[in-house]
Amino acid sequence: MQLVGSLKGGMARAGRRALDIVLPPRCLKCGTTVDSVGALCANCWPAVAFLGPPQCAACGLPFEFDLGPAALCGACAAERPAFERARAAFRYDDGSKDLILRFKHADRTDSAPAFGRWMARAGAPLLADADLIAPVPLHWLRLFMRRYNQAALLASALGELSGKPAINDLLLRRRRTPLQGGFGALARHRNVAGAFAVDPRRRTRLQDKRVLLVDDVLTTGATVSACASALLRGGARAVDVLTLARVVRTGG
Ligand SMILES: [Zn+2]
Ligand SMILES: [Zn+2]
Repeated sequence: MQLVGSLKGGMARAGRRALDIVLPPRCLKCGTTVDSVGALCANCWPAVAFLGPPQCAACGLPFEFDLGPAALCGACAAERPAFERARAAFRYDDGSKDLILRFKHADRTDSAPAFGRWMARAGAPLLADADLIAPVPLHWLRLFMRRYNQAALLASALGELSGKPAINDLLLRRRRTPLQGGFGALARHRNVAGAFAVDPRRRTRLQDKRVLLVDDVLTTGATVSACASALLRGGARAVDVLTLARVVRTGG
C-alpha cells in the first residue's frame, strides 16, 4: 500500500513538474515566477491589506478598535443597506489594485480559484448561511467586449469550494450604465437604480432563499445595493455580499 502510495505521489509530482515547465506559476500581482499556483511573491504579499474583524457588522468597514460583533459604522447606523452583511477579502488601494486590474483586463482568469479561497475565508459565515451564490451581472455588450464576467468567475470559484449552487444568470442587467469612475456616492446610486432585475426564468428558484451576491470590488456599495433590492423584490429572503476587494475611505 505504502509503495503504491509513494508511486502515485511520485507520478503526481512528476506530472506537476511537467506542467510547471510549460507554465511556471506566476505571482498573482506582479507576474514574477513563484513556487506555487495561486500565490503572491514575497514582495507583493505585504502590500495587500487583508480584511477581517473588528469591522462594521453590516457593511464590513474595518474598525480601529473592537466595539463588539454587533457594532455598526455611522453610515449603517443611520440607514441600514438593502443587504444584510458585506465582507471583502482585501482593501482596494495602491498596494492591491494591480491584482484587480490584471484579473479584469489582462486575462488573468487563472487567479479566480485563489481569489475564491481568500473570499471564502473573509466571508466564511456568509458562505455557510447562503442557499445560492450569484454574481453582479455585466451588460451583455460589455460581456461581449470583455469576454468574461470577472464576478461570475469568482461566484463559480466560491460555488466549487462550498458545494453551493452558483447561478450566473440569476440577475439581469436591464440597461448599460455608464462606468462609475468619476461619480460621487449619490450619483452612483442614481446611476444604477433600477438597472437590475431577477431573470423571470429564475424567479421560482429564488423564493425565500438567502443569496450571497458576489462582485470584484465594492466602492460605494451602490451596485450591490441595487442588486440586493432587485433580489429582495424578486422573492429572496435575505442578501449578503462578498467581494474580492473594497474601498476603505479614511478621514470620514
Ligand atoms: Zn509579486
Ligand atoms: Zn457599515
